[in-house]
This record gives sequence, C-alpha cells and structure tokens, in this order.
Amino acid sequence: MRRVRYEAILFDLFDTLVLFDRDRLPLVQLDGRAVRTTAGHLHPLLAERYPETTLDAFHDALVWSYQEAERRRARDHREIPAGERFRLCYGRLGLDPGAVPEEVTGRLLAAHMLHLARAAECPADHLALLDWLRGRARLGVVSNFDYAPTAHRVLERAGIRGRFEAVVVSEEVGWRKPRPEIFEVAFRRLGLGARAALFIGDRPEIDVLGAHGVGMDVAWLNPGREPFPEGLRPPTYELGRLADLRGVLEGKG
Ligand SMILES: [Mg+2]
Repeated sequence: MRRVRYEAILFDLFDTLVLFDRDRLPLVQLDGRAVRTTAGHLHPLLAERYPETTLDAFHDALVWSYQEAERRRARDHREIPAGERFRLCYGRLGLDPGAVPEEVTGRLLAAHMLHLARAAECPADHLALLDWLRGRARLGVVSNFDYAPTAHRVLERAGIRGRFEAVVVSEEVGWRKPRPEIFEVAFRRLGLGARAALFIGDRPEIDVLGAHGVGMDVAWLNPGREPFPEGLRPPTYELGRLADLRGVLEGKG
C-alpha cells in the first residue's frame, strides 16, 4: 500500500470529522416556543437543590454563559472548561458559584454532554475515508472543546477512537486553536514535525490560521463554498466535502 505524501493527517473534530446536528438535541417548550436545548434535562437537576430557579431563567443563563465563555475564549484563546462555564451560569442566576456543590455541577455536566455527544455523527463517507487512510498515514485529532471526555466519547460512539494515535483536546491543553501550543502537543505525541503533517478543519480563523502558524499545510473544509476571509493566508487545499481529501492526496485534487 502506498503511503501518502504526509506522514500524518490531523483533523479538527466538530463539523470536520463529525457533524454536529442541532436537530438531534432535545426539544423543550419555552415561552410557548419549541427550542432545541439541553436545558430541559438539566434544569430539574439544578432545581432539586435550588427550587426557586425557573426553566426560563435557567435557559437564559445557560445561553448567556455559553456566549460569555466564547467572548472570553476569543480574547486570548485560553480554554474555559465546561465546569467553569457552568459556574458563569450559576452567577447569572444569582447563585453563589462557589457554594453550588461539585456533585450538582458533575450531574449537569454529565447530562449536558450526553446529549451533545448524541447530536454528533460521523457520516458514512467520512468512515470510508478513514478506512482508505488506514496504512497510508498516521492520524490525529486536534479539537477545541471544553470537556475532553465528550470528545473521546464522540469518537468511541462512531467506532473510530482507535484510528487516532493522538487525540488532543483544548480542555486538556489549556489553549485553543489557533494557538501553537495545542498543535505542538499533537506533534510531540506523534513524534513528528509540522512539515510532516497536514491539518484539516472548517474554520479559517481557527484551523487554517492555526495550522499555518505552526508551519503545517492545511486543507480548508468549505462545504458552503464561502469566500475565504481576506487578510488570512489562503489554505493549501480547499475541500467541498471531507471525502474529497482522498483525491487531493492521490494528486487528483
Ligand atoms: Mg470545527
């Protein structure tokens, strides 16, 4: 079997290797509207301890805490772990974040992550690509995600965890893409340098910028055929579908 021109292929996880489908999140009625959210499953777990907390207020605080965590992450690319994000949510609800028992946060986190993991799926053509890559390149994952066990669980549910020699998640590293630190952890685990690997991801300002920043070639997954943002160095390759990577690696792309 012929190996491809890169020793290793490193994938972004969400919306690259696996697709996140919001329509698979639980449906809950809020203010007479049907909303896809985990809030309906999480709220009873918090209300057991804090019965004055309403579902509507909890949902608002949950959404706000996500947006606030994203604002803070965008400032310096430091990861805000999911537990910390939940403490932002408690503060928004007027609770003392330090007084909420760890056990309550643990139960919220478990329920939240269970539903997120169920909403992620690895399409058949992605699985076929991974089958084709077997023996042709070493594989890794570099993911921005705030709770590492869920990233591993998503791969396990898809039956592909064993394909990857390195699965690096920002929650474990403390830094998110595009910071070099997270890519460097992957290089160390695989024992190779940036020039030996190709990165594939869907976000120009995270995946393409980050991979170029450490000296990797990068394939931008762009199913929506969006224009590439001005001012960023363009990707080495552009893919309409992940499965098109095979043609690129065979020199037909
Ligand atoms: Mg992504």
